[in-house]
Amino acid sequence: MNIAFIAHDRKKEEMVNFVLAYESVFHGHTLYSTGTTGTRIMEQTNLSIHRFMSGPLGGDQQIGALVAENEMDLIIFLRDPLMAQPHEPDIIALLRLCDVQGIPVATNIATGELLVKALERGDFAWRELVHKYKPGE
Ligand code: PGA
Repeated sequence: MNIAFIAHDRKKEEMVNFVLAYESVFHGHTLYSTGTTGTRIMEQTNLSIHRFMSGPLGGDQQIGALVAENEMDLIIFLRDPLMAQPHEPDIIALLRLCDVQGIPVATNIATGELLVKALERGDFAWRELVHKYKPGE
């Protein structure tokens, strides 16, 4: 599965702890992130992550481009609900594209845990069919 991690600054520690807790589940998947989030995760885990640009510089949009192509299978996006973000339009655009494509996206840790447990159980197998039978390929 293609999985993306994004965490706003005050959520980065929570993200690192979350990924550490489920590191064994994430092994074997293809991982993506915005720049700083990915650096922090890689510093503290043994996971290899393809890092896009930092969120405010376009990282959300780069992940959004994969969502638009229906390539992304799961997004863990720990947003900071108590602080305005300069790239709010990019954030809204990314979430909108997830709704367009029906991509599971967690915006808080509780939902993130549920989705990771579902991933562990194999509940995302339907996404393999999406990849296999993409229209136009
Ligand atoms: P970052 O981007 O991982 O580069 O900090 C995330 C964000 O703040 O949108």
